[in-house]
Amino acid sequence: MHQLTLAEIARGLADKKFSSEELTKVLLARIAQLDPQLNSFISITEDLALQQAKAADARRANGENGALLGAPIAHKDLFCTQGIRTSCGSKMLDNFKAPYDATVVAKLAAAGAVTLGKTNMDEFAMGSANESSYYGAVKNPWNLEHVPGGSSGGSAAAVAARLLPAATGTDTGGSIRQPAALTNLTGLKPTYGRVSRWGMIAYASSLDQGGPLARTAEDCAILLQGMAGFDPQDSTSIDEPVPDYSASLNGSLQGLRIGVPKEYFGAGLDPRIAELIHNSVKELEKLGAVVKEISLPNMQHAIPAYYVIAPAEASSNLSRFDGVRFGYRCEDPKNLIDLYKRSRGEGFGPEVQRRIMVGAYALSAGYYDAYYLKAQKIRRLIKNDFMAAFNEVDIILGPTTPNPAWKLGAKNSDPVAAYLEDVYTITANLAGLPGLSMPAGFVDGLPVGVQLLAPYFQEGRLLNVAHQYQLNTDWHTRTPTGF
Ligand code: GLN
Repeated sequence: MHQLTLAEIARGLADKKFSSEELTKVLLARIAQLDPQLNSFISITEDLALQQAKAADARRANGENGALLGAPIAHKDLFCTQGIRTSCGSKMLDNFKAPYDATVVAKLAAAGAVTLGKTNMDEFAMGSANESSYYGAVKNPWNLEHVPGGSSGGSAAAVAARLLPAATGTDTGGSIRQPAALTNLTGLKPTYGRVSRWGMIAYASSLDQGGPLARTAEDCAILLQGMAGFDPQDSTSIDEPVPDYSASLNGSLQGLRIGVPKEYFGAGLDPRIAELIHNSVKELEKLGAVVKEISLPNMQHAIPAYYVIAPAEASSNLSRFDGVRFGYRCEDPKNLIDLYKRSRGEGFGPEVQRRIMVGAYALSAGYYDAYYLKAQKIRRLIKNDFMAAFNEVDIILGPTTPNPAWKLGAKNSDPVAAYLEDVYTITANLAGLPGLSMPAGFVDGLPVGVQLLAPYFQEGRLLNVAHQYQLNTDWHTRTPTGF
């Protein structure tokens, strides 16, 4: 039963082959048995899950239907869940029980999804390896000595190991697409403003976006359908109608114009990954797509711009954690300054402190123009590059990551080496564009992802291309040994 996709679960529940309660019990048992190897969950919400599963079964018995009614999922532990610990992977929020549900959590619960738990993540979503979590590193089910990617590494590892069919993630600079690539999943970062950020603990507000992680594009369509939509509680949410994503999956790719940026294939890209990406292009050509080389000339500036803007926003967002209003408070503070200093010094881990320092520096009076303002100008140039490219092509295709999953600890002493792994993903966040990563093959037994980018609000096009690709390839069906 644990091998079923969301689409198969929906059919099985509709045909009364099994109940949501039965399925939920199977998956909870599997989590209890296998998660100790992976550490992909921070909290397992067994009571809530069983209660939601029973309620979903009752709704089905009353004639209700729906792709998510009774479907087991999990939430990255930065989506606020009422009365349930919402830690954001940090000691700072280890004792924090959110007083309300995030919009995404509420919407999925209303659609009948069953929450099995809250998944492990890099502290405050800062990282690409899931090693900065206060709750310990997550292991990659494809090789337990390797990282699963981050920051949504817990969601990715859990879905890849068939502990559950799908989970939510968030993507500020790649945190859905990169772990999807490193664990053989399909992951979608929607257009900025497509999914409400209300109740999603903020890292970098102008970049953060929630989205689905699943094994197939078909399942991403189902989960995204439950997450997307205008939310008046989020001032950057966009009031655009949500299309039927599942209905868009079967469009023909005849004549689809795919742009492959020449800058993607420079030094730094593992040549074995380059070959797999070229193979995926050939596969799409067989389906009728037309391929064209394009250029994104400002891509080289993306990492420095992102690693100024994201920490700048983080330094501001994280100022609310002061030991007074939320979360961790140090023992016996001598005075107010001591309370602030020690609560933050003890509550935040080293990567978060590093980002706060970089961000506060970049925003300081003497350096604002030199760093922050300049980074914002680069951001506009990157967006302009994409706009020019999308005048010529319908989709941009390339690798999701320059390398497969690295060994646990391999980049711990060199944060910049980890930042460089984000080279292909962060441009979509800087421009606010939707992006998807899907399985494209293996290198040394480790999964490789191909990334597709589309114009604003063209999530349906990404899912369509990925679904057609998955009907003709079987990379996404491969299962890690032992799971
Ligand atoms: N690796 C990037 C960072 O550390 C992206 C993280 C994310 O998307 N949340 O900032």
